[in-house]
Amino acid sequence: MLSKFRNLTIESHTLLKNAATNRLPLQDFVREIPLGNRIVLAQAITLVESKLDKDRTLAEQLIETLLPSTGNSMRIGITGVPGVGKSTFIEAFGKYLTSLSKKIAILTIDPSSTKTRGSILGDKTRMEELARDPLAFIRPTAAGLTLGGVADRTREAILLCEAAGFEIIIIETVGVGQSETAVRNMVDFFLLLMLAGAGDELQGIKKGIMEMADAVVITKADGENIQRANQACADFQYALHLFSEADSGWKSTVLTSSAMEKRGIKETWDLIQRYVQFTRSNHYFEQQRKQQSLIWFRESIQQMLVQELSKSGEMNAKMKLLEDQITNKKVLPSRAAKAIIRDFLSS
Ligand code: GDP
Repeated sequence: MLSKFRNLTIESHTLLKNAATNRLPLQDFVREIPLGNRIVLAQAITLVESKLDKDRTLAEQLIETLLPSTGNSMRIGITGVPGVGKSTFIEAFGKYLTSLSKKIAILTIDPSSTKTRGSILGDKTRMEELARDPLAFIRPTAAGLTLGGVADRTREAILLCEAAGFEIIIIETVGVGQSETAVRNMVDFFLLLMLAGAGDELQGIKKGIMEMADAVVITKADGENIQRANQACADFQYALHLFSEADSGWKSTVLTSSAMEKRGIKETWDLIQRYVQFTRSNHYFEQQRKQQSLIWFRESIQQMLVQELSKSGEMNAKMKLLEDQITNKKVLPSRAAKAIIRDFLSS
């Protein structure tokens, strides 16, 4: 399997050359992706990130053609504030999974990269070992997209990676804002990484994010930090008990880990497998996937409507006028929105 994987990447240089000026034709993508051709997979992800209309049409055709071979992976979201140890943890976790011969893909959602091209998550020095692992595929966020855009493209990238045979897909995001909700809505299991801070452990934790987590891992539980990590583990476990039961029926758990000493890594994977078993047996796993597809559908409608609106010069002018009236307290935002939609529908 592995040698086939490697040979294909050499072959694909020819394909890439042909694609330097033009996109690959649909049939080339459709043929190469299910064979696990990583270069063509990367090209396909670039295609889905493109804003050009003709690329969008090709991307949609491609993903729809591949849809029957998607959905077979375990989708894991990992979040935590910068510095918590995400890349070190994902590298250790990823290497552990590839040592079990699992094919893993890591995609990132980094809202900060939408403003500057220098993404904190896209830093090339991150996950160096994993980046060289033939069973791993790492893809940072495309710059220049809005969070909604990034989320949409990441969902499509997940499907492409699944069609390419990746069994575990990790979606990494920085724990700084709305991106957690976006990631929660596209994964099966959501993992929150936390630091054992000095003093009051529960201060500064966004309750909403903790409520979304299926597990919390206290990172850097090594050296002098072990005791603090164990205390934080007990505190978080207690805090999680105070939340109402999740729809899945699963009780969130707290673990400690040292990615540097490779501890707590196997335990995290064992926990995720227990979660999958649990949610498959009570059918929550499939229900959540269906629900997520519907969320994607509804969010797409909203986004497309906004895009269509902003394409029209006339509508833009009307919106600008209403925005002035809103900020001058002359009209209620909801009434202004109604007026715009009415105008748009009748135009
Ligand atoms: P990220 O910003 O969340 O991706 O965090 P990084 O993985 O880049 O780690 C931030 C810092 O914490 C780096 O200096 C790491 O070397 C350090 N670090 C990460 N994991 C561990 C760990 O398990 N133990 C210790 N002691 N330090 C760690």
